[in-house]
Order: sequence, then structure tokens, then C-alpha cells
Amino acid sequence: MSELDLRAVVLLLGAIGVLTSVVLLHLWRQNRALLAAAAWWGAGPLVIFVGTVLMGLRGVIGAPFSIVLGNGCIIGGAVLMYVGSCRFWDTPLPRWPWVWLGLTLVALLLLSTVWPHYPLRLTIVPGLMAVVQLAHLRLVWQHDRSSFAAQFLLGWIAFSAVALAFRSATAQLEARDADLFTPSIWQNVYLGSYAFSLLGEGIGLVLLAQQRLQQRIRDLATHDSLTGALTRAAFWDAATHELRRQQRTAQPAALLMLDLDHFKRINDTYGHQTGDRVLHDFAQRVHHVLRATDRFGRYGGEEFVVLLPDTPAAAAHAIAERIRTQAATAGLPPYTVSIGLAVLVPAQQAADTDATLEQAIGRADAALYQAKAQGRDRVVQDGDPA
Ligand code: GH3
Ligand code: MG
Ligand code: MG
Repeated sequence: MSELDLRAVVLLLGAIGVLTSVVLLHLWRQNRALLAAAAWWGAGPLVIFVGTVLMGLRGVIGAPFSIVLGNGCIIGGAVLMYVGSCRFWDTPLPRWPWVWLGLTLVALLLLSTVWPHYPLRLTIVPGLMAVVQLAHLRLVWQHDRSSFAAQFLLGWIAFSAVALAFRSATAQLEARDADLFTPSIWQNVYLGSYAFSLLGEGIGLVLLAQQRLQQRIRDLATHDSLTGALTRAAFWDAATHELRRQQRTAQPAALLMLDLDHFKRINDTYGHQTGDRVLHDFAQRVHHVLRATDRFGRYGGEEFVVLLPDTPAAAAHAIAERIRTQAATAGLPPYTVSIGLAVLVPAQQAADTDATLEQAIGRADAALYQAKAQGRDRVVQDGDPA
């Protein structure tokens, strides 16, 4: 095993990084706004590649370049990948790794020129990298531990953190004047593990980016872009699914049809753009009032539909009133909404959920029509006396 050419292993490690970079930077170029993080992720392995080349030139170029700058690039690359994940999940960018990196560079300069000491350098560099990897691990864990992409990434980051920590801990076994390419079993295991984990980490990041793209496409297909409400078809799917689930619990559900009052007038008086802002504002109101399990869809132009699972009539009425009485955002023309309410008691929830939903929408629509007829800006329940 000690016959492995460690210089070749280090360069191979860098080349693997370049491959990862190409894919990540390509994803970034295609989706700059959505995947700004991929630029950082892609820059990381490129910088690591530069580091491996500098290290591969050990003996050819001076120690300050090979050891200080080379290690600096390798640590810096790992930090860039961590920063990419901070960007990905919109968390504050950390400053400490850069400070530590700066201090490490100074220490490396001293430990390679003034007081050459390989084991100490070997404690410091993989040690700091293990810390960066642990911070990265924690960040991913906090934001996603259920998707395959995140689990894959977590596995590889954890693996590299263990390899790095192990190398840092065993550093003192090395001779003081040894170097990166002095053959040893630990060095083989360490460099091999690190090369593998860089590839694994890169694939994990690509999977994560891919997952976000898929999510975005799914959102575009199922959500209305102006209001964020479900499209009519997506609402239908979500609502029938919910009703099927509810048949098993035998709880009542409620359905609301909501229509903005005299919306044509708002458009005519203030213009279409203001009309659009009112629609957006209204949707925000609804999102604000609804619970996570409720379903909100845009049924037509300024007409919306809401399914409230596990909600009896009185509670549904209260929710509808809360939506109706929420204040409009300052700067928008005042507007009101009429709401029709229909309750689906368990007995009415037939096996054919499409028919059940269609019938409930019909009843809520009739109640909405009544609300309009009674003067608008009110909630009317299906079956209320006219
Ligand atoms: P009512 O109180 O009876 O509901 O009166 P209304 O004026 O709201 O009723 P109507 O359904 O006749 O008018 C709805 C208007 O909503 C007509 C249409 O131009 C407008 N509208 C539909 N979709 C949009 C949209 O996306 N943006 C804007 N600005 N207006 C829209
Ligand atoms: Mg209207
Ligand atoms: Mg309408």
C-alpha cells in the first residue's frame, strides 16, 4: 500500500475537484438566481485543485507557495463549499473560518520556514478542515436531513470529517522532517479518503441543486405566480387527496369560495397593476390566516377557494370572518371580499371524492352568490336563510 504514488493521489484529488466544479458551475450558469449557491460550491473544488497543484510542486517551488499557499487553497476551498451551503439556505455568512484560515497561514509560514515542523502543520491543517466540515455538517443537518440528496451529502461530509480528524490526531506519529509525500499507511488512507469524500461531497451538492430545481419546477406547475395560491388543477388534486384522507377520520371539513367585491371597479379606477397588487395582497391575507393543513387555490381571476380539513361549521365561519376582516396593506385601495361557506359532514363525504368536492363547491358558490346579493363584504353559509 505504501507504494502508492502520493503525489499522483494528490493531483488526482484535484482533478476530481475540477470535474465536480464543472458540473456545479454549469448548474449555476443555467439558474443564476435560483442557484447562486452553486457558484460558491463550484469555486470550492477549483480552489482545492489549485492547492493540489501547488502541493504537487513541492520541492520545485518554494515552501511559502507549496506549503502555505497550497494548504491555504485547500482549506479555503472547503470554506467556500461551506459558504455555498450558507447561501443555499439563506443563513448568515460566517466570518470565523476566514479568520482562522488567516491565522493558520501565518502559523504555516512559521512552521515551514522559521521553525520547520511537519507533524505540527499536519495537526493544524486537517484539524481546521475537520472543524469546517463539522460546521458544514451541522448546517446541512439543521436544514435538511430527510431528502436523499441531504443524507448523501451528510454521509460524505461526516466521512471526510472523520478522516481529517483522524489525520490530525495521528500527525505526531510522523517524523519532524517528513512531508506530505513521505509514504505512510496513514497518509495513504487519509489522502485516499479525502479524494473520495471530495467526489462524494460534490455529487451530494449537485443532487441538492437538482432537488431545488425540481422543487421550483413543481412549484411553478402547481402554484399561481401572482398569488402563490394553488392552481385550479393542483387545488383539485390536493383537496380530493385531503377528502380521501378525511373519510378515514370521519371529521367534518369546510369549503370556502371567496370573490373580491367590485373588482372590475378597482381595475377601472386604479389600473390593472394596482388590481394585481390587490390580488397579491388578498392572497397574503389568506395565507396569513390559514393553517398548514388548509388548502388555498385560485379558482378564477379574482375568485379563490379554500378547503379547511377537520373543521366544523363554527370554526370555519370564524376563519372566514378573520379573512374578511383582515386589514388591507397601506397604500392599496380599500377592498372587500364576499365568502360562501359549505360544510361537508362525514355522511356527505361519498366514496367518490371528485363528486363530493364538486358538490361542495357548488354549494359554497351558491352561498357566495347569496353574499353578493345581500350586499357583499360578508360570509354566508350554505343553507342560511336568504
Ligand atoms: P362582484 O362584486 O360581483 O364580484 O364584481 P366584480 O367586478 O368583482 O366581478 P367580475 O367577476 O365581473 O369582475 C372580475 C374582474 O376581475 C374582471 C377581470 O378583468 C378582473 N381580473 C381577473 N383576473 C385578474 C388579474 O389577474 N388581474 C387583474 N388586475 N384583474 C383581474
Ligand atoms: Mg368579484
Ligand atoms: Mg368573480
